[in-house]
Amino acid sequence: MTVEILQQHIDNVKRAKLISDKYLELIILPTEQCNFRCVYCYEDFSIGRMKSETISGIKALIEKRCATLSYLNLSWFGGEPLVAKDIVLDISEYAMSLAGNYSHLHYSGSMTTNAYFLDINTASALANVGVTHYQISLDGPMEIHNKSRIRADGKNTFERIWSNLLAIRDSLLPVSVLLRLHFTADTFDLLDPLLEDIKRELLPDPRFSAFFKGIEHLGGPNDASIKVFSETDKAKAMKILEDKLFGDNLKSPQNGAVPDNAVCYAARPNSLVIRANGKVGKCTVALTDERNDIGTLASDGKLNLIPGRFSPWVRGIETLDIDTLACPLVLLPTSDEIAANLRKKAVTV
Ligand code: SF4
Repeated sequence: MTVEILQQHIDNVKRAKLISDKYLELIILPTEQCNFRCVYCYEDFSIGRMKSETISGIKALIEKRCATLSYLNLSWFGGEPLVAKDIVLDISEYAMSLAGNYSHLHYSGSMTTNAYFLDINTASALANVGVTHYQISLDGPMEIHNKSRIRADGKNTFERIWSNLLAIRDSLLPVSVLLRLHFTADTFDLLDPLLEDIKRELLPDPRFSAFFKGIEHLGGPNDASIKVFSETDKAKAMKILEDKLFGDNLKSPQNGAVPDNAVCYAARPNSLVIRANGKVGKCTVALTDERNDIGTLASDGKLNLIPGRFSPWVRGIETLDIDTLACPLVLLPTSDEIAANLRKKAVTV
């Protein structure tokens, strides 16, 4: 086999996994309200709790697709998803019971949460309906974290999150917890006490893993006052922090660092964001960008897509360009370009 043919084979396998219609991931925002006001947050909290029509729409969509799927992941996002815990439990229970009818279908549930409401009873109830993978952010040891991950009423959050993490550690719940450890140019060298606590209390338990994430300017109102690293300095800082946390075990499965060539869910045709207002999108960051408003979900599970809005997000599947796959929002065609493309296609047809 020549190198070209081998590369072609690898590309085909990669492409098949990325586009398989046997995979479906729904990133669901059951509410866009949050109990926190993190200083770097980009969300505007203008949309509240998911309405019953959208809840019915998600259930109907899952029901329609179940028979032909091999893999269904419901990924809970927000706002803070546990502000609408009842919706998470309702839809997850429905998905789990449906999946029980199809032996070929692997269903899983995951959640990005601030963990303030993730007490042991809640974690246990969620595990019972298949929500077992968590991503939880910490900004540093207590005094650092409490300055940036602040409750909406201004109160502290670290103590409660940490005690929830310890309670999960002390349980036998079949969960995994990926800690997302934030740093800025100002906090980078203040994280050590947290890293020591994580090493001592959490990492001896294989259910816990961690990765570092440099805070970026994502369009929030406080961007100007947050000191971020340049890309080069960020990479150096990340390496130092990883060495501190994992030492000689950099290759440990508990090092959850995302590889540079990871494919963003927004780049995959089999991943959709369902917002609390029933709008369908691709990206969880560009929530106010009209190009990310790709359609709506009807209460009968029908997806009504806006012509021309879906394909720009998944253009990396054609080119297999690493940067486009890693973040299709970068260089996403403008609304005018999308409209021009549609006109061109109409003329050709
Ligand atoms: S498209 Fe880019 S900004 Fe949006 S979720 Fe993916 S990586 Fe993040």
